[in-house]
This record gives sequence, structure tokens and C-alpha cells, in this order.
Amino acid sequence: MTTRVVIVGAGFHGCSAAVHLSSQGHQVTVIDKAYAGRHASGVNAGGVRRLGRHPAEIPLATAAWQRWQRMTDLVGDDCGFRPVGQIKVAENDADMQLLADRETQIRSLGFDHEYLIDREELRRRIPSVASHCPGGLACDGDGYANPYRTVTAWRRRAQQHGAIFHEGIEVTNLDSHKGGWEVTASGQRFQADIVVNCAGAWAGTLCERLGEPVPLTAEAPMLMITERLSPFLQPVVGATSRPLSFKQFENGTVLIGGGVRGAVDFQRDLAETRLDGLAENANTVVSLFPFMAQARIVRTWAGVEAVMPDQIPVLSRSHTHDNVIHVFGFSAHGYQLGAITGEIVADLVNQAEPSLPITPFSITRFQDA
Ligand SMILES: Cc1cc2nc3c(=O)[nH]c(=O)nc-3n(C[C@H](O)[C@H](O)[C@H](O)COP(=O)(O)OP(=O)(O)OC[C@H]3O[C@@H](n4cnc5c(N)ncnc54)[C@H](O)[C@@H]3O)c2cc1C
Repeated sequence: MTTRVVIVGAGFHGCSAAVHLSSQGHQVTVIDKAYAGRHASGVNAGGVRRLGRHPAEIPLATAAWQRWQRMTDLVGDDCGFRPVGQIKVAENDADMQLLADRETQIRSLGFDHEYLIDREELRRRIPSVASHCPGGLACDGDGYANPYRTVTAWRRRAQQHGAIFHEGIEVTNLDSHKGGWEVTASGQRFQADIVVNCAGAWAGTLCERLGEPVPLTAEAPMLMITERLSPFLQPVVGATSRPLSFKQFENGTVLIGGGVRGAVDFQRDLAETRLDGLAENANTVVSLFPFMAQARIVRTWAGVEAVMPDQIPVLSRSHTHDNVIHVFGFSAHGYQLGAITGEIVADLVNQAEPSLPITPFSITRFQDA
């Protein structure tokens, strides 16, 4: 049966839902107040990571990782995916113990994608890492991809399947209408049987309208990129007890991020960088890679991201309305998961049991609390 679905938000998750729903013959309309990929999905660090995931997310991240392997088959573009591996580096023995505990946890959950490496192996994989680092936790097959190219590829594929995108109009109202919804966006009206809330950092406003407020906060992770440097790094690197994500692209530039926050300006719908936070991040880089003290930063930016208090997303049917599905709150690590969430949304729209465990992501966890 064809269902009319309105998706609010054309980030990666909205486009992923659009691909899967439209390819199954549903009538899909995607609405974005800016344009596809304008916010977190188009400006993030591109990390494709299973390493260090919350246990509840590991099945999804594993399934998403399998989709990343065949991205070209899925959307006609590899989205710049490079499976160079990821390594969390220990800076001292206490870090090493944390990583050993994590390896034990992963094994006890029945997974083996993360494993400890010692000092020699760390140096073999990352010759330029500081000599005091005693080892790390590695995950082969993780890597990075190109965020804006990813959203564009998924959006294009959804359009090829018949999804219609409306950009530059903001959804301001959802009214119950003949068992479905009348969605108002900047004066235009759209009829829907089901609404999918993929509104990122703005998703909480829709939840409030639906009578199910959520403790979502908007945060502004920051990134900076260097001039081109001679190739020195293959895997993506993170620190263990400090925020850091560090990767060198094929063109030599190095992207530095990993959690230090700027500020969100909701008046102007954008995120601003904070120099002291960038300096803190740069200091972490230099303590892991001393030669980077000479590298010049050529650009900095920040993006607006939805963060939940328990750091895992909401991916569930609404608690108050059967015909609303929520997909938001990815807490600064949702890019990798975009490759799978659309399949789950399609299961929910089709009233099928999702093939992956999503109970931990239910919106009811906040109502219960
Ligand atoms: C700087 C930064 C670095 C990051 N690095 C990584 C990383 O390395 N790896 C990783 O896995 N994740 C990373 N993330 C997180 C990841 O980018 C996000 O989790 C993910 O992109 C969220 O996608 P989304 O589709 O939910 O939201 P978004 O991409 O924000 O999309 C939401 C869309 O909804 C639209 N919208 C909102 N309200 C309305 C409305 N009322 N009407 C119409 N449209 C509306 C917005 O305009 C927006 O385009 C990073 C995030 C940032 C900001």
C-alpha cells in the first residue's frame, strides 16, 4: 500500500529515510528549512566509526558499516568512504587500562571489532605518534567519508525513486487531518499519512507540538583543518580521555575535531567557533603529534548538533501519535548511522518488526524518567 510520508529535515537521516521509502513505492515529500546537508550532516568530520560506540548502538553501527562497504551499489557514489581504520590512542597507563576494559566489554557483548594494540604495533601503524603513548584500541575497516557528498548522493537517489524535495521552507505546524496530518511549511500545506521527524537539533520543537517534550540540547562541535602536509597518517586517530578526532585526507590536509564545543546561535541558525576551545584541541594534537606544532590552520567551523542526555539517539515511533516516527538526537556521532536508519524507518512505516534492536532508542525512555 502506498503511504504519503512527509519527512521533516533533509540531513543524512531524512535523505536515508527518503531513499528507502521512495524505493518501496511510498509517496515521499522531504521538507527542509534550509537545504539538504546545510546542517550537521553536511559539515561534520566524516568519521565512519564503530570504535567506542555505546553498547546499544553497536548492532546499528555494525549494520551501517556493512552498508558503507557497498555504498556505490546503494546510491551510485562511494561518498568518499576510505576504510583506513580508526585507533584510539592511550596517553598513559590509566588510558591503557580503560582501553583494556573496553576490549573486555566488547568481547562480553559478543563483538570482536575492537582490539588492543601495544606500543610497537601503535608505532608501526602511526610512526609519528608521540613516544610516551603506550598503545591503543584499533578497529579495522572504520574510516572516514565526505559528508556533503554523502547527503547529495542519498538525496539524488531518493529523487530518482520519486521523492520530492522542498527546500527553504520551514515546517511550523502539524494538524491532525482525516487520520493523518496536514503539514504547514511557510504557508504551504502538505497532506501526509505519516510524518517522520528528522529535524536534527530542531527536532525538539516538533516533539513539544506533539505533546512529548524531550531533553534535547543543541551543541556546536567545532572543527579545524590544516594546510596540506606530507602524508604521515593512514588511520583516523582519537584520544582516550580527551576529546580528539584527527585524520589526514588524501590531499594532505589534516582535520582536527572530536568534541570541543563552540556556541549555537539560534537567531541566525548557525554555530560559532570559540578560540579557547580550538586552542585546547590544538594542544591535544601537539601532545600526540609534536611536529604538528608547525602546522598552519587554514579554516575553522562549527555545526549545530542534537545531543541527548544519554548520548544515544531517539529512533522510534512517537509515544503520543502512531503516525509519527522520530529520528534525531545522534549526539555528535550520527553520520555513520545514516546508512542504516532509513531501513529502520521503512520497517516502521510498513508496520514491520525492525530487523535491528531499537528499544533502547525509544522516546518513551524520557517519559518514563
Ligand atoms: C562539527 C560536527 C562534526 C561531527 N562529526 C561526526 C563524525 O565524524 N562522525 C559521525 O558519525 N557523526 C559526526 N557528527 C554528527 C553527525 O553529523 C550528526 O549526528 C548527523 O549528521 C545528524 O543528522 P540529522 O539528519 O539528524 O540532522 P541534520 O543534518 O542537522 O539535519 C536536520 C535538518 O532538519 C532541518 N530542519 C530542522 N527543523 C526543520 C523544520 N521545522 N522544517 C524544515 N526543516 C527543518 C534542518 O535545516 C536540517 O537540514 C558531527 C556533527 C558536527 C556538527
